[in-house]
Amino acid sequence: MAKNYAIDQLKDALKRLPGVGPRTAGRMAFHLLERDRDGAKILADALQTAVTKVNNCSLCNNLCEQGVCAICQSGKRDRKLLCVVETPADLDTIEDAGAYTGFYFVLMGHLSPIEGIGPDQLGVEKLLQVIKEREVQEVILGTNLTVEGEATADYLYDTLQKTEVSVSRLARGVPSGGELEYMDANTLSQAFTDRRTLS
Ligand code: ZN
Repeated sequence: MAKNYAIDQLKDALKRLPGVGPRTAGRMAFHLLERDRDGAKILADALQTAVTKVNNCSLCNNLCEQGVCAICQSGKRDRKLLCVVETPADLDTIEDAGAYTGFYFVLMGHLSPIEGIGPDQLGVEKLLQVIKEREVQEVILGTNLTVEGEATADYLYDTLQKTEVSVSRLARGVPSGGELEYMDANTLSQAFTDRRTLS
């Protein structure tokens, strides 16, 4: 029997998505090919368009279709505050929760020696530059409340000691621990309200 290279290629592509293993990838591939060819084309087009149009904001690294994202362009945000998060998805969760009104800075993940992410890869130089240019008064360390997120927050805290800026850390929500992305709006709002001033 001839090998179905195209199907295998599709399954392998789907396996790249977070949380999708071989079985789920197989189910998705067969679903698209057998039952929803229109959906498959819509998906392919949307992916193509998104990867072509979406870039990182030149100020905060958030995903956007212009050079500067809508949040950074807004005149209604609290200019004194800058919340540092790990990913655009975290930023999105905070925005959806309506928990915060200042600006953001999106790191390129968190410190992770295993994944080869050190201070240089996090874009700390750019963060320091943004703090200076925007005359930020308080940096809220909004990295995840996980081991890696806490290590990243500790590192940033040490680095920010060299600046004039006040530093705070999100309070641990109840139930404690975990990733911002999965917190509900109330917990997240509370984590901002109860944030601890570190310096
Ligand atoms: Zn931005």
